[in-house]
Amino acid sequence: MRRTLSALLCLCLTLSACARTGGREPLRGSEYVLGTICTISLLDGGSEAALQAVFTRLREIEARMSANRDGTEIAAVNGAAGRSPVRVSPDTFFVVKKALEYARISNGAFDPSIGPIVKLWNIGLEGQRVPEDREIRDALPLVDWKSVVLDERASTVFLPRTGMRLDLGAIAKGYAADEAARILGERRVKAAIVDLGGNILVYGKKPDGSPWRVGVQNPFDDRGTYLGIVSMGAGTVVTSGIYERFFEQDGKRYHHILDTRTGRPVDSDIVSVTVIAPSSIDADGLSTTLFALGRERGLDLVRTLPGVEAVYVDARKRLYLSPGASKSFNLTDKAFTFAE
Ligand code: ADP
Ligand code: MG
Repeated sequence: MRRTLSALLCLCLTLSACARTGGREPLRGSEYVLGTICTISLLDGGSEAALQAVFTRLREIEARMSANRDGTEIAAVNGAAGRSPVRVSPDTFFVVKKALEYARISNGAFDPSIGPIVKLWNIGLEGQRVPEDREIRDALPLVDWKSVVLDERASTVFLPRTGMRLDLGAIAKGYAADEAARILGERRVKAAIVDLGGNILVYGKKPDGSPWRVGVQNPFDDRGTYLGIVSMGAGTVVTSGIYERFFEQDGKRYHHILDTRTGRPVDSDIVSVTVIAPSSIDADGLSTTLFALGRERGLDLVRTLPGVEAVYVDARKRLYLSPGASKSFNLTDKAFTFAE
């Protein structure tokens, strides 16, 4: 619910910015897909058919990559773990390959083979619970991105040990947003907002030529308010945080970004990380990666990635920005402060 509100808020913010400048009423569609509310708004060009083409594609991506549904390619790969490679579509192959790249650059803090641990906790899904220590101990050795075997020519993915499971939950929505943008381009849409549950991609140029303004979620606020605004050209803004999906038990909060070393929710004073980047698969992969890496290692990594900026928010409402982020990010909620 909170995610939905934030998503709507981001949307309202970007839309009102556009409305004020006299753009025509946008053509908009919303659908529950990829585990969240997805809203596409066409601000210049396009048609109902273009919207439908995007939603068809989002559903296709979900049908191929979800780890929580039967019959997907990822379910087939997981089902064949320890037995045989599984041939997958170029889509799924590309996303798995990207995910393994993030595993490599984060030294395994991000790991798409985290599936066995995700399944133990089931956070945000039915049956969420704190697993027994023993269960975590048994599952951890199965989290091992280095052992995943990709065969580019055969387009196959192989998990060498029984019980291994891929989970693309941290990156698939980003890919879906990039695909939405690609389809909008094919359909000659000139300006659009793609909002996949708060993962925002702004496409093209606003009709009045002014920069896009995208709200950054306030991770403390139930009502989906934003803490600041990113002014930008075409690109994407993705946030990962502990407020997105969690449950509470005995006064302790268990969130959905998991530490690949402990098999438990990442334990730090970070509450959210927002990534600004040209491509959404990168922004989505990175937002989770940066959360898992923590602030110092995360900002070190961002410095090596051209065109990528990040905003960390900690529990004391302090903001830590990558060097280039201050150019585009504007703090609007004065309850937050910039660290040093
Ligand atoms: P959301 O999907 O809620 O927007 P994220 O993009 O941060 O948030 O993805 C979180 C999801 O990623 C989790 O629900 C889980 O499926 C998966 N995940 C959790 N921890 C890790 C990790 N260390 N590496 C890779 N994927 C993870
Ligand atoms: Mg992510």
